[in-house]
Amino acid sequence: AGTLHVVATPIGNLADLSPRALETLRSVDAVCAEDTRHTRHLLAHFGIERPLQALHEHNEAEVAERLVARLAAGESLALVSDAGTPLVSDPGFRLVRAAREAGIRVSPVPGPSAIIAALSVAGLPSDRFAFEGFLPAKAGARRERLAALAGEVRTLVFYESSHRIADTLADCVAAFGGERPAVLARELTKLFETVLDGPLSGLQARVDADPDQRRGEFVLLVQGAGDDADAKIAEGRRIYALLATELK
Ligand code: SAM
Repeated sequence: AGTLHVVATPIGNLADLSPRALETLRSVDAVCAEDTRHTRHLLAHFGIERPLQALHEHNEAEVAERLVARLAAGESLALVSDAGTPLVSDPGFRLVRAAREAGIRVSPVPGPSAIIAALSVAGLPSDRFAFEGFLPAKAGARRERLAALAGEVRTLVFYESSHRIADTLADCVAAFGGERPAVLARELTKLFETVLDGPLSGLQARVDADPDQRRGEFVLLVQGAGDDADAKIAEGRRIYALLATELK
């Protein structure tokens, strides 16, 4: 059987495509892409011409089966998304699961991902973090999700788009308090790369005041609930341990 190579592609700067990613994309029988036009462009930039197969949210369940049959018959395929690492808030999960279930080798060609790039420059605790992907689009559901995260002690990482960043910052201020340290990473590796830090209320003020700060692609990182919550959790554990020994 062939191999399914899961290949990370740049999140902005094309020079971030790794030599191994290039070699893999050149060598496979076909490239499965979220948006074939976008990927054709990327491949053309590097002088690569490979057959492309669309694999997106709407056809993945159906196409995955056919692709697994091709892999089983000995073809090797690459899976890419429009930017960054496939499966990270991007299509591919169904294909990878189906390939693994069929005993096909699935091998990563790691590289850029906006979460990791943002964490690496944010200066927020990064030993543990919770990646929340995109928040719900509807205001009610978004606020509910944020309320449920208010006590989370790990650094929170969200993906956000230009049309919702202002609303999301306002909702974060409401859910976590304006004082919570946060970082807004915008357009990483691109011309207008900007990493703003400050309390959530400060980020909100800057984004509200300057339309340029609402353009592009964003990773929003919010420090976890501080000592207060840590202390409460530790106290809870202590009492539980005491009770557990008492009740033995
Ligand atoms: N698979 C990608 C990855 O590994 O990062 C993420 C795909 S997701 C559909 C796109 C989101 O990732 C954007 O809305 C934004 O939140 C984030 N993103 C992608 N590129 C970025 C960049 N250059 N700077 C900041 N955020 C970026």
